[in-house]
Amino acid sequence: MKCKQTKNKHNRDSAGKIRHAEGFLCKQCGNCCKIYYDVKEISFTYRDFERFDKSGRQDIIDYIVAIPVGRERYLYEGWFSPTTGDEVERCPWLRKLPHKDAYKCRIYELRPDVCRKYPRPEEKEKVIGDGCRGWDHLDD
Ligand code: SF4
Ligand code: SF4
Repeated sequence: MKCKQTKNKHNRDSAGKIRHAEGFLCKQCGNCCKIYYDVKEISFTYRDFERFDKSGRQDIIDYIVAIPVGRERYLYEGWFSPTTGDEVERCPWLRKLPHKDAYKCRIYELRPDVCRKYPRPEEKEKVIGDGCRGWDHLDD
């Protein structure tokens, strides 16, 4: 039986899985990882920290900085070099696969929420414009 998908503000279906637009199939081109880093930077959620912390991945947390935005309130952003404190030029977890035009995320199982939710169904046209190849196979 096909599971009925219920849209909610978090783009999750009724089983709690993140929804992507129909027909989407990631081609591992790595473009979104570069765009997210270069254009928007990554902001982290409390759930991200829990995930990293429970997995004992202090090395990931070390790349995140807390930016004060008010009384005892912070924005958590990445990625910043733990040694120099400077922003790194590219997400430190993105790796190009040898001899292939494809990339992988070295922290895929733990990746931040913002990465999990990409691409949001309502942003399909925009992300295609940004270079996402997730629907290219439908053009064949
Ligand atoms: S954490 Fe992983 S999915 Fe997110 S931008 Fe970096 S390489 Fe891409
Ligand atoms: S831009 Fe689209 S196809 Fe490329 S890695 Fe990101 S989600 Fe996958």
